[in-house]
Parts: sequence; structure tokens; C-alpha cells
Amino acid sequence: QFVRRPLIAGNWKMNMDHMQAIALVQKLAWTLTDAEHDYERVQVSVFPPSTDLRGVQTLVVGDKLSLDYGAQDLSDQDSGAYTGDISGAFLQKLGCSQVLIGHSERREIHGETDELLNRKLAAALRYELAPVLCVGEGLQVREAGQHVEHTLAQLEAALQGFSAEQLTDLVVAYEPVWAIGTGKVAGPEDAQEMAQAIRAKLAELYSQDFADTIRILYGGSVKSGNVASILQGADVDGALVGGASLDAEEFAKIAQFE
Ligand code: PEP
Repeated sequence: QFVRRPLIAGNWKMNMDHMQAIALVQKLAWTLTDAEHDYERVQVSVFPPSTDLRGVQTLVVGDKLSLDYGAQDLSDQDSGAYTGDISGAFLQKLGCSQVLIGHSERREIHGETDELLNRKLAAALRYELAPVLCVGEGLQVREAGQHVEHTLAQLEAALQGFSAEQLTDLVVAYEPVWAIGTGKVAGPEDAQEMAQAIRAKLAELYSQDFADTIRILYGGSVKSGNVASILQGADVDGALVGGASLDAEEFAKIAQFE
């Protein structure tokens, strides 16, 4: 019943050393195979720490209909004197198909600005990495009733200067910061309200046809028990899952939502 192919994405954050990552991705792939997961119907991807990507690459068969994987961040630069940063070129060589951009933890802890995220988006596109752009408001903004304006401003700033043709692989993840890792889930109506507003903004910036093709995810304490109700929103096309993606069986259940 989905117009767009749903995406269930797992953000491992700074968890899982390379041995644990191999075990987790192997168990996840097996669990999904056992459950006869139809990757054509629901795309599944994982975002391990960068140091795990090589291990994940060796385990994930690179055919289009299997698990996808990507990085949690990338540099806005291609190469050079940027100690500690990771180039999109390296991620592309490691077989990544996606990259998270502007996760709230990057915005908060690392002070990533909308301008920097706009450049990171450009870097992702240079290396054919589908950008999963994270947007969303904190508790104060939500309580002030400004969550829609705030989130749409983040979206517009990140997309500044790009054409619809450049953004065909864009995924937008709406993650209310107050619902991340807190056990507080935005209600299905809240997720739908924002997803609809994001799609309307994309239609305004580009066109309705373009907006209708872009996948919009919800993220914030998604579990197997609440995923189905969240995905009932007509504009919600999947989930970005943090904590629950560290348990292969639980994450597989989320991907198998009915
Ligand atoms: C996230 O960090 O992207 C996230 C949604 O985390 P959690 O599912 O743990 O709330």
C-alpha cells in the first residue's frame, strides 16, 4: 500500500567494535533471510561506525537486493589536512550507498551548522552517496509550538542551491530531538504532521512530482511495538532507528513491520 519503497534504517551510533559489528550484521542478514525478507518491498540499511564499514562490506553481498549500509557522517572536503575526518571518496570505495547528514547529535555535540551540512550534502552527492538528511526540533522549540517552522528552516538551509535532478536519492529523516533515546515517541499524528509539512515544503521548493518521490522517515524511540502505527501516516515512508537497531532480532522485526 506504500507509494514509495519504505526504508528501515539503523543508526548504531558509537556502539559496536569491528568484531561486534561483524556479528551483528551477520545475525541481522541471517534473521532477515530466515524471515524471507523482501528487500524490494522494504529497503533495510545500517549505519555502523566508520571503523566497522570494511568488516560490514566483506559480509554484505553487493547486489542491489540485500542489506544496504552507509556512514553516520562524512567530511565536506574531499581530501587533505582534515585530521580525523572521513571523505565521501573513502565511503564510496567501501561500498556505502547512503550517508547520514546532520544527525541531531552531530548538530549538538559537534556544533554542525546548516551551512556546513549544505556542504556535506554536496560532498555526499559528489560520491554518489544517497544523503539521509536529519532534521527535527528540540523540546523547547516543540513546547513553543515552533517545531514545524524550525524543522522546515533546517530542511531549506541544507538544500540551498541544489536542483531537483541532483536530489533524486535524497531521504529526509524527521527526528524530534526530545524523542531520541528517551523512550518518548512522537505520536503517529505528530510524525505524519511533520512528514506532510516536509513534503509540502519540497513541493514548494521544487515540484509536487519531485516531492512525491522523496522518502521521509520518522526517528525517535522506534521499536517493533510502535513501528506499524507510526508508518500508518500517509507521508511517513520508514524509520530511522537508534537503540533498537543494536539488537538484530528486534531490528529485523521492525523491518518486517505489518
Ligand atoms: C537516532 O539516533 O537516530 C534515534 C532515532 O535513536 P533512538 O531510536 O534510540 O531514539
